[in-house]
Amino acid sequence: MKTTIVWFKTDLRVHDNVVLNAAIDNGDLVVPVYCIDDAHFGNTEYGFKKTGAFRAKFLLESLQDLDAQLRALGSGLIVVRGKPSTEVVKVARAYGAANVFTSDEIAPEELATIHAVREKLAEHHCTLTVFGNSSLYEVTDLPFAVQTVPDMFTAYRKKTEAYSSVRPFVPTPESIPSPSISDLQIPSLQSLGLEDHEQDERAAIQFRGGETAALARVRHYLWESKCVLTYKETRNGLVGADYSTKFSAWLSMGCLSARYVYSELKIFEQEHGANDSTYWVVFELMWRDYFRLMMMKYGSRFFLKRGISGKNPTGVRFDAKLLQRWIDGQTGEEFVDANMRELKATGFMSNRGRQNVASYLCNDLKLDWRYGAAYFEQQLTDYDACSNWCNWAYVAGVGNDPRPNRYFNIQKQSEQYDGDRRFRKLWSTVTDARLILPISLGFVRHNGILFARSGARAAYRRK
Ligand SMILES: Cc1cc2nc3c(=O)[nH]c(=O)nc-3n(C[C@H](O)[C@H](O)[C@H](O)COP(=O)(O)OP(=O)(O)OC[C@H]3O[C@@H](n4cnc5c(N)ncnc54)[C@H](O)[C@@H]3O)c2cc1C
Repeated sequence: MKTTIVWFKTDLRVHDNVVLNAAIDNGDLVVPVYCIDDAHFGNTEYGFKKTGAFRAKFLLESLQDLDAQLRALGSGLIVVRGKPSTEVVKVARAYGAANVFTSDEIAPEELATIHAVREKLAEHHCTLTVFGNSSLYEVTDLPFAVQTVPDMFTAYRKKTEAYSSVRPFVPTPESIPSPSISDLQIPSLQSLGLEDHEQDERAAIQFRGGETAALARVRHYLWESKCVLTYKETRNGLVGADYSTKFSAWLSMGCLSARYVYSELKIFEQEHGANDSTYWVVFELMWRDYFRLMMMKYGSRFFLKRGISGKNPTGVRFDAKLLQRWIDGQTGEEFVDANMRELKATGFMSNRGRQNVASYLCNDLKLDWRYGAAYFEQQLTDYDACSNWCNWAYVAGVGNDPRPNRYFNIQKQSEQYDGDRRFRKLWSTVTDARLILPISLGFVRHNGILFARSGARAAYRRK
């Protein structure tokens, strides 16, 4: 029998997994593999870790859960560590596989990884096939080619809603034909150069990685609590688990499929009625798709100081002290500080918070926005290259925002969204233990000026 390797990346689930289903449909033996890419655990050129402890822990939990799901279907997960172009190819060779199937990627680094794996596999007469597996709307179903997707969200959304539809999700396989796969072996957080952290009881939600927790969260938000019925009114909240869906981390790691969420919403609407709130979750998932499309269209330009606009942002400077105060929640601007402390202690921040702290870094501190984006990249459990860098570029005024000089008046925002000061009170204290997180600002001094260490990533992102 032929063997197909399923190379999991940010699609850590068995529900609605186009790649897994395609491998099974191929009639081959299936070998599921995940490669812990060492490059994801180094430092970025901005001096931050590429993956901090919150997301790494979430990843390890997700791998454990995926292994359990796969075993229940007669398979299991092989976890390797190193460079995918070496390690995935080794597994393919060990099993004599003729094909490797995987999900598509969008951001430049991830695309480069896919390209490297494809080239190495070809040397061994093995092909790599890539499937769309992460968006709500499949790219090929859109009423425009990627290069002509409108640069304004509203134009994109209206045309997509009018002329396209969301595909039905693919069913979870009943079984997976696999050779015997030995017990799961995953590295510890420590061996990835990270330290475990205590859960902060003030966290909006205690995230747990994996599809099991993701599906339980969907069940809770839609069916049990029915919070989805008031999402549009509560989504700008700041305290607690249920003001917004909190699907983001599971969506980013692919433990949850956007199409599955859509399908559950449609069933929910049939039973309980559709309203602005049930629609608004889809609206936000369209923002997620939109930034993926923008990254496809503009690629590495999203990582440049001038972004896709080519205009100079308001802030261009680098000031290590100011940046550190922003990170530590010690700017003196209470609302910004509360949000930054939450991010540091929990790996999460609300959308309202993200917009405010990003605007503050760009427009008030006048710092180079990319340091903020890179800190988020390290710190967020739900980090997603497209959502993060495109949102940051948007707030910095160098992305897709059609309004020039969007500025968040922090005082006004805190009065509007935290009028009773509940959120600011919650995060008014910081314990030292919580502050010891793996943030290492890798700066080098040259002629008395501090520069962030540059890395290989900067080089090809700027290509
Ligand atoms: C500066 C900045 C950086 C951000 N970085 C990330 C990131 O790295 N990863 C990430 O998933 N989101 C990011 N966002 C978007 C948004 O803040 C989070 O998706 C949201 O706060 C997550 O909470 P939730 O799941 O409860 O969202 P909900 O309000 O419940 O929204 C439902 C889902 O829609 C999607 N979504 C909502 N808002 C956006 C948006 N503005 N852009 C893209 N998708 C959206 C998310 O997948 C989210 O889970 C960023 C926003 C800003 C302003």
